[in-house]
Amino acid sequence: GVRRMRAFGTTIFAEMSALAVRHGAINLGQGFPDSDGPPEMLAAAAEALRTGQNQYPPGPGVPALRTAVAEHQRRFWGLEYDPDGEVLVTAGATEAIAATILGLCEAGDEVVCFEPYYDSYAASIALAGAVRRPVTLRPVAGDRRYGFDPAELRAAFGPRTRLVLLNSPHNPTGKVFTRAELTQIAELCQEHGAYAVTDEVYEHLVFSDAGDTHVPLATLPGMRERTVRISSAGKTFRCTGWKIGWASGPAALITAVTRVKQFLTYVNGGPFQPAVAVALGLPDSYYDELRTDLEARRDQLVAGLTDAGFGVLPSEGTYFVTTDITPLGGTDGMAFCRSLPERTGVVAVPTEVFYDDPEAGKRLVRFAFCKRAEIIDEAVRRLRA
Ligand code: PMP
Ligand code: GLN
Repeated sequence: GVRRMRAFGTTIFAEMSALAVRHGAINLGQGFPDSDGPPEMLAAAAEALRTGQNQYPPGPGVPALRTAVAEHQRRFWGLEYDPDGEVLVTAGATEAIAATILGLCEAGDEVVCFEPYYDSYAASIALAGAVRRPVTLRPVAGDRRYGFDPAELRAAFGPRTRLVLLNSPHNPTGKVFTRAELTQIAELCQEHGAYAVTDEVYEHLVFSDAGDTHVPLATLPGMRERTVRISSAGKTFRCTGWKIGWASGPAALITAVTRVKQFLTYVNGGPFQPAVAVALGLPDSYYDELRTDLEARRDQLVAGLTDAGFGVLPSEGTYFVTTDITPLGGTDGMAFCRSLPERTGVVAVPTEVFYDDPEAGKRLVRFAFCKRAEIIDEAVRRLRA
């Protein structure tokens, strides 16, 4: 294979999910729910399949979905996007991220991102021939919420900075970036003439004890015009296999993203697009229940992991909680996760794979709590045994 992709082996999710199957273990590694999304959405997809909506959808996405995406952003975040030209439907957030980086970065351009980062970021940056400039998130003394050193962030920006890639709420840490932190990022973007690309796939999954609510970076002064805002249906509507995502932003940026997307997948998910449009229009009660249910699962897993002896770091949102294995005598998260399925019948993911410097995440292990209550109970029982 090509040199620029040589550092990338099999994704950690594929490796750990295969271990789960091999050992019949409970998979708290890869983040996917074990129950279906809203029945209205499933019915709409079935209807679309039955009524012949099975051919190529329009390039930018079906109008009903683009309209629903725009309306959803106005309703929850007060952001205005024109469904014609400022919204692009993609094959999940993953394609939106790849197409945005490929569409905006010249070879050698720099991308500022926070580590640990979602694994596709490094690969997309490498595909573009761009260079990543990671800023490390660390548990801060006191409440141990993750934070960054403002000086380290400032030092990551320079004359070659093309964009900052920000994920909040953040996978794998469960951190929700505060308005104060976002303001620092926004100021640096503007100072350096950089774009922002925001991965907000967990936008509706912020818990009641988080340090702040979810604040889209694009809502900060001067940011809408330089931000490509990305989200997807997978997490919000429990349909990770459908791979319906979207990018929103000023027309010139979305044109650049579309230029790439049309040659990656051309279009995707014809019958699922109108179904996601229906889901986006569900009443606030849907979103509230999604969040409160998930918060209860988080509390349940956090209590169980604490009982089992893990050092549990605060999770303010997403599907995930990070643990420190040091109190259990662990020193190597990768070795720990490779043997965990056989030892206990539970799968987790080593956080070190999400860092440029694996040492930084060496003793950290991520667990997913987007599972039914009885499954989490059983996982906890196994981990304590
Ligand atoms: N970004 C983050 C932070 C994620 O955790 C994930 C995985 N769910 C994705 C992007 C990919 O989303 P999608 O499945 O819509 O491609
Ligand atoms: N986003 C999910 C996670 O972080 C799964 C992504 C994947 O399997 N590529 O677990």
